[in-house]
This record gives sequence, structure tokens and C-alpha cells, in this order.
Amino acid sequence: MQNKLYDIIIIGGGPAGLTAGLYCSRAGFTTLLLEKGLLGGKLTDISDIENYPGFPDGVNGAELALKMQNQAKRFGLEVVHSAIESIKLEEKIKHVKTNSSQIYISKAIIIASGSDSVKLNVPGEDNLRGKGVSYCATCDGPLFKNASIAVIGGGDSALEEALFLTRFAKSVTIVHRRDSLRAVKILQDRALANEKIKFIWNSVVSEIQGSSSVEKLILENVKTGKKENFVCDGIFVYIGLKPNTAFLNGIIKTNEYGYIITNENLESSSPGIFAAGDVRKKQLPQISTAVGDGALASFSARKYLEEF
Ligand code: NAP
Repeated sequence: MQNKLYDIIIIGGGPAGLTAGLYCSRAGFTTLLLEKGLLGGKLTDISDIENYPGFPDGVNGAELALKMQNQAKRFGLEVVHSAIESIKLEEKIKHVKTNSSQIYISKAIIIASGSDSVKLNVPGEDNLRGKGVSYCATCDGPLFKNASIAVIGGGDSALEEALFLTRFAKSVTIVHRRDSLRAVKILQDRALANEKIKFIWNSVVSEIQGSSSVEKLILENVKTGKKENFVCDGIFVYIGLKPNTAFLNGIIKTNEYGYIITNENLESSSPGIFAAGDVRKKQLPQISTAVGDGALASFSARKYLEEF
């Protein structure tokens, strides 16, 4: 049987993909969204979003994700849960192959596959994952009541999640590789003023140790090279993000870190393929900018389909 030819396939169901799904299906295009995990993407990991307009008291990420998906589905967006293995181009038709070897075809693609947490890549990280090593404070924070926790990183994510973890933990120690933070000032001020939060500066984790769960970290001072033990019950890693673009296999241009390069209309280097959200090279990866990207990529896809 011939595969259904969709107008648009969206890869990724975070805020960029769900917004694209809303705009494309509402505009009357047959639209399929492929998502490997939960709809909402990283949104579902955020406990309290303070800087998304329209929610003066903040909003829980999972709640916002549910509202976004319900809104998109209302206009007929189809959703399939599957990871992408590759994209192949046959003339103007795009073939998207999933890791279960299913092939979906479309005239246009919007890639909104987002980014994942960077790992520390140190001994103990993999085997103690889920046993005290975490990348999601929203998911795992409540398991650490009265615990001593280390948070690694000095960016917005590290500080925001360290502040969230103080609701449960006895103490939260932020370990940062420099002596000044990357995070925005409002988060720095809050973290520095919080009595439960301590800082260890100029230090990186060289090993995570524990028999059945995390017991201690080996920290190395990057200035002196001195190593010290840091006893704790859990470690939350927030050292940045890497784009989910492995499935592209060079069919469109990315930068040296794998982020998709687009023009101002969010067109990639390949006609009919657009990128939106954290997966593309951009100045400000935020929920609000991902939403804007989703709308703009849909508009550009619509223009492309008018000439198809
Ligand atoms: P990020 O801004 O890239 O910060 C990563 C942090 O980890 C930096 O402090 C970096 O140190 C440190 N780091 C990197 N590699 C390391 C390593 N191997 N070992 C130890 N430390 C390491 O990442 P992010 O905090 O996840 O934020 C990603 C983007 O999302 C940012 O643009 C951020 O503004 C945005 N964001 C926004 C919000 C919000 O608006 N509420 C919340 C979360 C994230 P250096 O500083 O020395 O480079």
C-alpha cells in the first residue's frame, strides 16, 4: 500500500513542534508530528516557568505542555510516538524513517527535535544514573527530602533547579568550574541569598562514587589541581545542552556543534526543510522563542507548499 503523503511532518513535540503543529493543522495542512518521548519535551521537566507570558503566577511545565498539545490536536494534528532514524530525499518528497523502520512521507518537514542534557562523562555517572545521578530536578527532586545535593553548572538551568531543589533538600551545593556564574542576575541574586545553597567554585566533578547509590563526588579544583571528596546523596547535572540532530546525517547544514543553520525565515539549506526551537543555532533558546519559531516555520512551510 502506498504511504500517505502528508503536507508537513514535524519532528519533535516540544513547544516549537507543538506550536508548528497547531499552526499547520489549523491552516488545513495534513500534518503529522513524530515525537520520541513525551509531548512537551523539556517543558515536562520544568516545575515552575516564570517567564512565559500570560501566566503571572508562573506555570508548571507539564501543565503548559498539556494545554499546547490539546490545542494542536483540536485542529487535527496527528501524533505518532517514535524516534527518527534518518531522512531521505527523493526529488521533492521527504522520507522520514523511524527506528521501528516505519517510513512516513511528506512535502515539507519542520525539524523541532530540540536538545538533550550534556553528560559529565565521568566514571560512576552511567551506573549511578537513577540511583542519585539525575538530569531532572522536577522528576527526581521530591525523592531527595532532607538530602545533601550537588548541582553541577553555573547557567540558568543549574541555578533555577538548585532553587527548586531547596524545597526538599537539607542543603544544595552548586559546583561551578569558574568563579563567576553564567546565569541571569535575578537567579544569581536568589541563589546567593538562599540559606540552603552553598557554592564550590573553580571545581569540576572527576568521579561519582557509591555502591548502590551516590555516596560522594571527587571534585577537582581546576586552579590548583587538588582533589577532594564531597559527601552527598545526589547529584543533578546542568552543564548545557546538545542538539538532537544525529538523524540528519549531513543532509542539511549544521554548525560545528550540530545545531541546524537557518535563515531568518527558518529555512534550512535544503528546500522544504525548516527548523524551529532549540535544535537550530539561535541566540536565545527559550520557550517563548521556540513558540515564535514554530509559528514562523509553519508560515514558511506554507509559502513553500504554495509553490510545490
Ligand atoms: P548553559 O547556559 O550552556 O550553561 C551551562 C553551564 O555549565 C555553564 O555555567 C558552563 O560553565 C557549565 N559547564 C559546561 N560544560 C561543563 C563541564 N564539562 N563541566 C562543568 N561545567 C560545565 O546551559 P543551561 O543552563 O542548560 O541553559 C541552556 C539555555 O537555556 C541557555 O540559553 C539559558 O539561558 C536557557 N535557559 C533559560 C531559562 C529561563 O529563562 N528561565 C532556564 C533555563 C535555561 P561556563 O559558564 O564556564 O561555560
